[in-house]
Amino acid sequence: MRWLTQICEYYPLSKLVQLSSQDITNLLDQYRQDEGYVSSGSSKEISLPVLPTKKGTITLVGSGPGHPDLLTQAAVRAINTADLVLADKLIPSEILELIPRRAEVYIARKFPGNAEKAQEELQSRGLTALREGKRVIRLKQGDPYIFGRGGEEVLFFQQHNFPVTVIPGLTSALTATALAGITATHRGVSDQVIICTGTGRRGALPELPSYGKTKTVVILMALHRIEELVRGLEAGGWTGGVPCAVVERASCKDQRVIRTRIGDVVRAVEREGSRPPGLLVVGWACNVLRGAVAEGEWSVEEGLDGVIWES
Ligand code: SAH
Repeated sequence: MRWLTQICEYYPLSKLVQLSSQDITNLLDQYRQDEGYVSSGSSKEISLPVLPTKKGTITLVGSGPGHPDLLTQAAVRAINTADLVLADKLIPSEILELIPRRAEVYIARKFPGNAEKAQEELQSRGLTALREGKRVIRLKQGDPYIFGRGGEEVLFFQQHNFPVTVIPGLTSALTATALAGITATHRGVSDQVIICTGTGRRGALPELPSYGKTKTVVILMALHRIEELVRGLEAGGWTGGVPCAVVERASCKDQRVIRTRIGDVVRAVEREGSRPPGLLVVGWACNVLRGAVAEGEWSVEEGLDGVIWES
C-alpha cells in the first residue's frame, strides 16, 4: 500500500491514467527484484522514475560556511527529501529554516567535554531512523570531510550496512579567505595552501606547519587558544612580521575580519573579543589584495564587503 501511495503521489494525473495493469505488474516485479529501489521500468509509453522505498537512506550533506546562497543545489535537493535531519550546532538558523516542516530535526548537543557522547547519540539516532526506513540527512558545516568527522560517520553507517551518499560543501577554510579578500594562492606569493586544525585529539596542540615563504596556512578551531598557537607557529619559524587575519562568521551578516601580523594577533583577539566560529589565516598572501598592516596595529572589517548577494 505504501508503494502504491508513493506511485500516486509521484506521478501526475496525466501519467497515472496511462498506466496499464501490465505496467503495474512490471513495476511491482522490478520493485521486488531491486529490493531497495524501483528503477526505470520497461513500459514503452511512460518513463518510470526512481521511487524511494522502505529501505532507509543516509546522505551526508556539506552546507557551506553559513549563508544559504552558498549551499549547493544538490544540498538543497537533499534537504527537501529529508524525514530526519541530524544537524551540527554550527549550522545557522537561515539554513535550518530551509528544512521542510514535516521533517524531524535533531541538533547535536556538543559542548566541551561531551563531544564523544553527543556524536554517539547522533549516530544512534541516525541508525534507528534508518532501520525504520527513513531518509536521513546529516547536515554538516562546510565540507563533510574537512574536520567534520565525516569519514568516521561514513564508516559507522557502512559498518551497519547502510551505504552513505556524500554531497560536498564549500569549506569555510577556502570561503572565509575569499570572503575576507584574501587570495589563498597568488602567483609569485603563495603556491601552497595548508588547511589544518588548532585542536588535536583530546584538545592537544597539533603539529603546525613550519614556516615557508610561499605557504598560506588556514587554521580551523584555533581562536580559543590563539596564544598557544602563535607560540607553536613561532617555534616553527614563523616570525612576528608575517601577516595574518582572523576571519569570523564568514559569509554571515556579522562576518568580521581582523587583519594584523603574527606578533600582534594575540593582543588583537584579546581586545576585539571573539565571535565564533572563526579561523586564522597566516602567510604573505594575506597582504596581496589589501596591503600591509603596520607593526603593533590591526584593522577590523565588519560585514560582507563586495559580495554578490543581498542578505
Ligand atoms: N567541516 C567544516 C569545518 C568543521 S570544524 C568546514 O569545512 O568548514 C569547525 C571550524 O570551522 C570552526 O571552529 C571554525 O574554525 C571553522 N568555521 C566553520 N564555519 C566558519 C565560518 N562561517 N567562518 C569562519 N570559520 C568557520
